[in-house]
Amino acid sequence: MPKNRSTAAQRARQRQAATGEKYTTALRAQRPCTTHHQIFSARGAGWTPITQRAEQRFDHAWPGHPRPHWEEKFGELCWKSFPWQDAPAEAHRILREAQREADATCQSCPAPGRKRVVWIWDDYCGTWIMPWVKTCCDNCYWVPSHLLHDGEYRFLFETYEESSA
Ligand SMILES: [Zn+2]
Repeated sequence: MPKNRSTAAQRARQRQAATGEKYTTALRAQRPCTTHHQIFSARGAGWTPITQRAEQRFDHAWPGHPRPHWEEKFGELCWKSFPWQDAPAEAHRILREAQREADATCQSCPAPGRKRVVWIWDDYCGTWIMPWVKTCCDNCYWVPSHLLHDGEYRFLFETYEESSA
């Protein structure tokens, strides 16, 4: 191996020095993309067990409850149009606990996660269409390197990632 062969981390640091990129962001962009995220979808190997457990608890605590419409918004788990007035207090508690668990769990796998800005891939157009906030672990997080300086991406990144780092 040549003595001066640089590692991915060194190359990322050099790029950071040249462009002002964050080192970790630059490093992650060099891995292949492993997870395609879907807009508004709350499904995934990390979150589906959380919503299933919550539904079992609703069955006990709230007979005849409406079918939950789970959704992801800004990286958070939601029940769209949850009937706040009609639901019993125990149902509010079950929902809040599921949301808290989802806040700390990667949506796509059961690893710990936090809010990250990813890009949504559109199969039909064959292109990255927009940045989007998801709760991710390090493995499921990926940003295409050519989109790291996109204005909308930077805005979401500064709002949702830098403030919590
Ligand atoms: Zn993950």
